[in-house]
Amino acid sequence: MAYDFDLFVIGAGSGGVRAARFAAGFGAKVAVAESRYLGGTCVNVGCVPKKLLVYGAHVADELEQAAGYGWSLEEGHFDWGTLIANKNREIERLNGIYRNLLVNSGVTLLEGHARITGANEVEVQGQRYSAGHILIATGGWPQVPDIPGKELAITSNEAFYLKELPRRVLVVGGGYIAVEFAGIFQGLGAATTLLYRGEMFLRGFDGSVRTHLKEELEKRGMDLQFNADIQRIEQLEDGSLKATLKDGRELLTDCVFYATGRRPMLDNLGLENTGVELDARGYIRVDEQYQTTAPSILAIGDVIGRVQLTPVALAEGMAVARRLFKPEHYRPVDYQNIPTAVFSQPPIGTVGLTEEQALEAGHKVQVFESRFRAMKLTLTDIQEKTLMKLVVDAETDKVLGCHMVGPDAGEIIQGLGVALKAGATKQQFDETIGVHPTAAEEFVTMRTVTR
Ligand code: FAD
Ligand code: NDP
Repeated sequence: MAYDFDLFVIGAGSGGVRAARFAAGFGAKVAVAESRYLGGTCVNVGCVPKKLLVYGAHVADELEQAAGYGWSLEEGHFDWGTLIANKNREIERLNGIYRNLLVNSGVTLLEGHARITGANEVEVQGQRYSAGHILIATGGWPQVPDIPGKELAITSNEAFYLKELPRRVLVVGGGYIAVEFAGIFQGLGAATTLLYRGEMFLRGFDGSVRTHLKEELEKRGMDLQFNADIQRIEQLEDGSLKATLKDGRELLTDCVFYATGRRPMLDNLGLENTGVELDARGYIRVDEQYQTTAPSILAIGDVIGRVQLTPVALAEGMAVARRLFKPEHYRPVDYQNIPTAVFSQPPIGTVGLTEEQALEAGHKVQVFESRFRAMKLTLTDIQEKTLMKLVVDAETDKVLGCHMVGPDAGEIIQGLGVALKAGATKQQFDETIGVHPTAAEEFVTMRTVTR
């Protein structure tokens, strides 16, 4: 049977655009439908605008350090409106680039909500299209717990478009987004409180990293409240918000920002017309080749809930395009040793196993840990410490994990990701000549076992 398209991609985000472009490049007839914004979450309300705001917040650090280097600056003034307007202009530029990328690679772009109406059929704006394969790449959406007053809270989606920087912010959650946005608000001058329901935020990260970041955020004056959760939110007559905690305490603020995870975006997607099943957590169930339980339908990216990172969605999109239309080039995505950064202030960079995971997996573990004041700070009064840590298998000498909290952690950890993928041993780290003077050289000069 002849279909309108070989591949119909739903969602022009990180994964969808990558799959569509490469499939078209391999000669397939491809359509992509997008209901909201080209480039998806990462470009519009995720990685990119977030990093721009992080840069903005980081300027405060640079200004504080300037005096030590002989620069006397007049009292600075920060204007939120300018930062957001400039950020919006950059995002619009990127939207245009994504449009060109798709159109120039021969993909048919359909702007509108897509609904699956059959195993090989999708409807967009009242028009039905048939396709040999349908790829669901619809991403995720912020999830706010169902508490009284939740409509008074914002999420990352709204934070990027706030008209003003709130004077006081209450951030709820202890994952990537909570920690990153708490740093943005705090860095730009808002009095920031971070509430996390458990003992210690950033569950799943290395224990030393979590403790170290907690200490550094407290040094910066952030109010961290763990074992704390909101029961209800009310608006007061003066417009401010009152958050009543489960332990009865009341906190006054101007903005409650929820970052309590994301759910898969399946709204009005028409899954009831297909044999697509969800897993126990509500994400689309797929096999190793991103095949759903309906033979003609595949799914990738945040909607499958594996690793919710843009480079992972890109890799999955590439894998699908190759498997379907260039099988001789197909390679499965390697989910081991995925490097990642949390763009907190200071940032975290991490790759491989945490000390806790290594022990749990039965490794005999050697830990090398170093805490030091970065050279750049020595001419200033700033007492921030950088943490670097290597987790090594004592029997094989293989480096199992590298972890860092400190300036440029994301930049530094990328290279170490290559080393771990290549199976580097501690001896090879030791034999690598350092780049002097840098912070990164500490990763190849740690000689004394800490534990
Ligand atoms: P998305 O990029 O979400 O794209 C899905 C697209 O599908 C959207 O454009 C949506 O409008 C569209 N869509 C949904 N339903 C339909 C429909 N029925 N019809 C048509 N279109 C539809 N990752 C990193 O690696 N580094 C970071 O620094 C980082 N920072 C982040 C910061 C924030 C605040 C957030 C929220 C996320 C961040 N992420 C980061 C995660 C990253 O953005 C996601 O992992 C990535 O965007 C997932 O790509 P995707 O293709 O699965 O989905
Ligand atoms: P995460 O899953 O990372 O964190 C969610 C946080 O909210 C956890 O601390 C969780 O606590 C807490 N939480 C969950 N439910 C509730 C609840 N009902 N009440 C109170 N607290 C709750 O989600 P994020 O929203 O921060 O980010 C989503 C994903 O996006 C990330 O996991 C990451 O993959 C990606 N991302 C990547 C970034 C990067 O690469 N730099 C930046 C931003 C996002 P607990 O731990 O106790 O479950």
